[in-house]
Amino acid sequence: LAAPTKHGQNALLFLFFFFLTIKFADLNLDKNILSALQSAGYEEPTPIQAQSIPQALAGRDMMASAQTGSGKTAAFLLPTLQHLTKRSEKPGKGPRALVLTPTRELAAQVEKNAQLYAKNMRWFRTVSIVGGSSFGYQIRALSKPVDLIVATPGRLMDLMNSGKIDFDRLEVLILDEADRMLDMGFIDDIETIVAATPADRQTLLFSATWDGAVGKLARKLTKNPEVVEVERVDDQGKIEEQLLYCDDKNHKNRLLNHILRDANIDQAVIFTSTKVMSEQL
Ligand code: AMP
Repeated sequence: LAAPTKHGQNALLFLFFFFLTIKFADLNLDKNILSALQSAGYEEPTPIQAQSIPQALAGRDMMASAQTGSGKTAAFLLPTLQHLTKRSEKPGKGPRALVLTPTRELAAQVEKNAQLYAKNMRWFRTVSIVGGSSFGYQIRALSKPVDLIVATPGRLMDLMNSGKIDFDRLEVLILDEADRMLDMGFIDDIETIVAATPADRQTLLFSATWDGAVGKLARKLTKNPEVVEVERVDDQGKIEEQLLYCDDKNHKNRLLNHILRDANIDQAVIFTSTKVMSEQL
């Protein structure tokens, strides 16, 4: 390694310092976005936000690895909202930004955050396109100009196939939890959706890993992407896993009853395989 020049050292120090002390106000975000962040109680950007937002605002494509809880949703929504504060140059009413998520629950979360950050942007319209909700409602929602669509790939494809969505105005495409979408078998849907969007769009990809198919897809969808990675907060060590064997359903219920009576348990989450079982429980 060549010895770093004095200038290089300073630049490194500056970068380090910049990430440590960066404030939302330093990010060139619109005052309506800044005031929404302030009322949401956000004091400063998380590391993934500090690294991603300036790159995304500069128009770069991105491949970012960050876990849920890192603030990744704001990392892609804030620069996208900032982008949308400039008027579209294209006519039409199709979405200007699209977020694809693997599940309805994540879509709902992303939409809720978008509405929170855009609450002072009165003109802003978002529509959620997910399975399990009424087609009629979604089609009506798309009949007016829309800024942001948050969608799961399956339902979005259904609407595309019936000619209800026009991506001509699309400027930003985001894939959230891209690896999970591929695990769930959405690769063909994603490729079809992306093919319908303009080639000059900005593409922001978020995934826990870039190994295998998701890395291949990422390279196909992005142009000279900035690769952003924040350190994993490894809390796996705090989870103790136990497997209990039971003779039958009654025995299982008695075991569960016993576990839940443990005075050390303040809160518990129980997953069941069906709705009926969760209601019985
Ligand atoms: P996410 O990783 O996007 O699921 O975000 C995790 C949680 O952190 C969400 O409840 C966000 O509202 C919240 N959050 C995101 N960014 C910030 C921030 N800069 N300051 C405080 N809370 C934040």
